[in-house]
Amino acid sequence: MKRIALSVCLLWVAMASLAVGRDSYTVIISLDGFRWDYVEAFDTPFLREMGNQGVKATMTPSFPSKTFPNHYTLATGLVPDHHGIIANKFKVRDENKVFSLSNDETRTNGNYYGGDPIWLTARNQGVTSATVYWVGSDVAIKGQHANYWRDYQEKPLLTLPERTNEIMRLLSLPENERPHLVMAYFEQPDANGHTYGPISAETRQAMEQMDSLMCSLWMRLMTLPFAADINFIVTGDHGMTWVNPERQLFPKDYLKNEWVELLANDLPTLIYATKPKYVDSIYNALKKVDHLRVWRRGEVPAYLNYGNNRNMGDVVVLPDIGWVFDNTPWTPGGTHGYDQTLSDMWVAFRAIGPDFKHGYTRQLTFRNVCIYPLLCHLLGLQPSPCDGTLDEVRDLLAQ
Ligand code: AMP
Ligand code: ZN
Ligand code: ZN
Repeated sequence: MKRIALSVCLLWVAMASLAVGRDSYTVIISLDGFRWDYVEAFDTPFLREMGNQGVKATMTPSFPSKTFPNHYTLATGLVPDHHGIIANKFKVRDENKVFSLSNDETRTNGNYYGGDPIWLTARNQGVTSATVYWVGSDVAIKGQHANYWRDYQEKPLLTLPERTNEIMRLLSLPENERPHLVMAYFEQPDANGHTYGPISAETRQAMEQMDSLMCSLWMRLMTLPFAADINFIVTGDHGMTWVNPERQLFPKDYLKNEWVELLANDLPTLIYATKPKYVDSIYNALKKVDHLRVWRRGEVPAYLNYGNNRNMGDVVVLPDIGWVFDNTPWTPGGTHGYDQTLSDMWVAFRAIGPDFKHGYTRQLTFRNVCIYPLLCHLLGLQPSPCDGTLDEVRDLLAQ
């Protein structure tokens, strides 16, 4: 059954690749934690064929390689230091509040989300856009959302198959209501990647499920009357690597409670001192610890593009890959957030449609800040200033 479905799907791929059209549609899917090598490591016939028929590339995330910073980078073309979502958890210094995924009040405060997310660039230039749970899209940014959006606080969330139904519903609206940009977020394979590790039976199963789901979505997209005008992108926010409790360091073994106001325990760990005089105490206590890289804010190496944001921790602590720095004991599994130059953090990128080359493999990685200018190009939008360029990804385009 799967084989028949796939051949029908690929027939449509071939037909679509013969078509051209300027009044185009873009559907971009983010699979959380979609590591660059999962397509080859696991049995993912659709995504493999999507790359063979369209474009296959590897994208580097921005630092830190975490979910919120990177989804919002994909949306704005700005690195986290510039858009403001510098971590999944950080202190908002001027308001003495803590931004975190589990704090709905701060997570949904649009003032913390800088830059111009693509759904607003589109909306403000008269192009209808829709989001299905994309990070930041359920927040009123400059008082606005996409034309259509889903609230991540409204539970139960749509299941993963229901999200593909929602994409089809949006694209089946009458022409004058129909979005030309649809952006959708899926929590897998990140969830299984964390619990079971990147290369595991369960992550394989999650990725193979996502492959089937993407295949059926593509087949349904190809039944639409404007199928030949759809650019379809499947990518993600970051990769995943193994962690093991034997490679865990505990902050409490090095730091005195009186020094630390907030230890935002993520990768990297952002440490906020109780008093300026304790910044050096924290820095000096951690500087000598093996397997940790430690910087004062403003002294993070330039290639990480990090450390100058107003809300940055006083001290930034980045463990070596595979190591964790946390007071809560870990179990074996996977995580991410490390230096974006390490290949385990890299992300798969597959794209097919009238504006992409056919059968093109890009050898060099590209930076995820280039997705925003790429989407602007596909939709005929004037991009806002950002850290990426269209030139860096122009070779992916048909012309
Ligand atoms: P992490 O792997 O720690 O970087 O974060 C991934 C988590 O982000 C997933 O477990 C999702 O449930 C969560 N997440 C994704 N989008 C949203 C959102 N819009 N609001 C709140 N949490 C989200
Ligand atoms: Zn993620
Ligand atoms: Zn994750």
